[in-house]
Amino acid sequence: MIVCIKQVPDTTDVKIDPEKGTLIREGVPSIVNPFDKNAVEAALKIREEKGGKVTVITMGPPQAVDALRECLAMGADDAILLSDRAFASSDTWATSYTLAMGIKKVGNPDIIFCGKQAIDGDTAQVGPGIAEHLGLPQVTYVQKIKEVKEDGMIVERSIEGGYEVVSVGMPVMIAVDKSINEPRFPTMMGTMKAHKKEIPTWGLAELGADEDKLGMNGSPTRVKRIFAPERKGQGEMIQGDDESEVCALLIEKLRDKKVV
Ligand SMILES: Cc1cc2nc3c(=O)[nH]c(=O)nc-3n(C[C@H](O)[C@H](O)[C@H](O)COP(=O)(O)OP(=O)(O)OC[C@H]3O[C@@H](n4cnc5c(N)ncnc54)[C@H](O)[C@@H]3O)c2cc1C
Repeated sequence: MIVCIKQVPDTTDVKIDPEKGTLIREGVPSIVNPFDKNAVEAALKIREEKGGKVTVITMGPPQAVDALRECLAMGADDAILLSDRAFASSDTWATSYTLAMGIKKVGNPDIIFCGKQAIDGDTAQVGPGIAEHLGLPQVTYVQKIKEVKEDGMIVERSIEGGYEVVSVGMPVMIAVDKSINEPRFPTMMGTMKAHKKEIPTWGLAELGADEDKLGMNGSPTRVKRIFAPERKGQGEMIQGDDESEVCALLIEKLRDKKVV
């Protein structure tokens, strides 16, 4: 199993530089994208039940190695960093191509796990992009792994108002939702082991990738404008002694606004 993890700023309150139109990352500590910890946990659980190996992979700057070490401390067997100047300015398509090339080099995994989305970029496109580049089936928003068989798995994926049960063959890309599990904490022993573990860095040369498909060259997305939407109005808490008083006040307000 290969788990794609992303190092993200430790905040969902992403600030944007209004002049440059870029994300302000300075002064914000980095963490492993929370959904990706759920993905690591899902892979570790399968390893515990069925055996196998869990490799974590990320594309990012050299400091993303810290995020990989955290996943090793959780129990992952190996970690790979994809880092090269040629990967800079990648949009989600180029990012998923680079990760797909890294995954190919690791070997032929049965399952590629991703998080549902990254809390900074938030597009939820990279997992499906990887599946597309590798020509694999994909199941997104997975909230439960019901069964893992020799050649496939049965999972639940959440949809509006319910869930679907999906039977899918392997190899497959699975993007997991937060509700799938509670990620374990790294152990002291795991942290010590992770500290010593050698983490290879692969760049353009190691991946043997097509340079035209990487970084800026391989990114068809053009960002026209990036901005934080203005808050239109404040929410209001309606206070009262009991439910009926609060409800009466709410209905009065809705009538005033001609909503009811
Ligand atoms: C034109 C353009 C230029 C950009 N330039 C830069 C740049 O110079 N530097 C920069 O940092 N970002 C840049 N970005 C943002 C970058 O493309 C996205 O951060 C990246 O593609 C991931 O998308 P996302 O955050 O929406 O992840 P999502 O698609 O929401 O992530 C879903 C899942 O995919 C996996 N995943 C996502 N990203 C990675 C990763 N890097 N490694 C491993 N797994 C991953 C994780 O499992 C994650 O949970 C640029 C974007 C555009 C559109």
